[in-house]
Amino acid sequence: MNLEQFGQIGLFGLEALLVGLLMLTFFRLRYRFGLALLYVTLGGFQFSQTLLATTVSVEVLPGIFISPGSAILFSASIFTFLLVYIREDASEARSLIYGIVAANLSLAVIFSLVNVQSASPLAMVQAMPGESTAFQDLSIFLIGTVVLALDVVLTIVIYEFVARLLKRLLFLRIFITLAIVLAVDTFAFLTIAFYGEPFYAQAVTAGLVGKTAAAVVYAALLAGFLQLFEDRSDSLAGSAGEHLRDVFAIMTYRERYDLLREELARDAMTGLYNRGFFDQNLQKELDRAARIGHETSLLLIDIDHFKRVNDELGHQAGDKIIRLLADTIRNTFRHSDLPCRYGGEEFAVIMPDAGMSIAERQAHRLRSNLAEAVADAPRPVTITVGIASFPGDAQEASELLALADKRLYAGKHAGRNRIVGQPRQETDTPS
Ligand code: GH3
Ligand code: MG
Ligand code: MG
Repeated sequence: MNLEQFGQIGLFGLEALLVGLLMLTFFRLRYRFGLALLYVTLGGFQFSQTLLATTVSVEVLPGIFISPGSAILFSASIFTFLLVYIREDASEARSLIYGIVAANLSLAVIFSLVNVQSASPLAMVQAMPGESTAFQDLSIFLIGTVVLALDVVLTIVIYEFVARLLKRLLFLRIFITLAIVLAVDTFAFLTIAFYGEPFYAQAVTAGLVGKTAAAVVYAALLAGFLQLFEDRSDSLAGSAGEHLRDVFAIMTYRERYDLLREELARDAMTGLYNRGFFDQNLQKELDRAARIGHETSLLLIDIDHFKRVNDELGHQAGDKIIRLLADTIRNTFRHSDLPCRYGGEEFAVIMPDAGMSIAERQAHRLRSNLAEAVADAPRPVTITVGIASFPGDAQEASELLALADKRLYAGKHAGRNRIVGQPRQETDTPS
């Protein structure tokens, strides 16, 4: 090996070091600037790596031509993907890959148009990007993109697999992952794109040497970074090793937040929406109905003589009946209706897109479904329901609620076990 070759290898090392440090710095700055720094830079690499791979390569060992495009810049995509996967989560890493695929496809479309243009006798073409054939033969660029999309799945699978074998050796874990994925990629890409060409075998060898060397630098940087700068506790992604097939189902913080919000809106005992949800959403539903010119109905449901149920059967039996009514409500109303536990043994159901007659019909169904459900109970359990409809009965949530409540109490005074909807009209009598 002569001095010039040493110098060139040194330059490759410097390039890998620079790219790796830049990516880690941009990632580190995500709390200040978001992930755009990292992603836009990586997007630029996509174009450059294809360009450089077909224009510049250096003979570092006899017969081994290495291109900064594939060895340094391409490997940076897998390196960055792994970094995001380990420190953020699978969903963020996924969106990075969607971004790369979208950017590459967009570029391919633009370049196919430009290629048509540059073939015109009117075109003055001053050396297409560095004389590269990459953008005249776009299939190579597209094959690279498809293989990259497959690489990332492989990256996660291998990383999770190796992570289970090597719990402590972070560097080795990352190196093995990068080395295997880059080797598979080199092999797959070159085989699909260039199999049978005279330079195929040499290109595979050169690709493996260059990328394995890059993997050493990148793995050392990433392992050092994770150990020095980032919290060493296992990330969301890292802790998913137990369930290999779940790697693409890991929740983002956003999804956890949504789930938590959903849980906060629920009543723990019955699983129906709680009072807070009801208070927040009744007016919203009315506003929505007003915008689209639909009706919305509100039902208030109260168990009759529930104190007696508790007294005669005990609180636990009382709880059971509350849950039974909740289940019956859930099974009676449409999926788009919003059943809530309003308090104690009182329930409310917001029925979007339903007028008084539909609401009454549903209330009757609920009453008979409940009668069936409690047929075995030691004592009869009945309900009284008050119904009010928007916009016929009231315009505002508070008015609508007051009216439904008034009708509920009218039903109680009239002897319970009944449904009170239309003004001054009892639609049912005790059965
Ligand atoms: P009415 O027919 O007039 O509604 O008579 P009622 O006895 O049902 O009267 P009211 O609605 O005022 O009383 C509700 C009772 O429900 C009071 C309380 O002891 C009981 N209760 C409220 N929440 C729970 C609960 O979570 N579990 C049990 N077991 N009982 C509850
Ligand atoms: Mg009651
Ligand atoms: Mg009550």
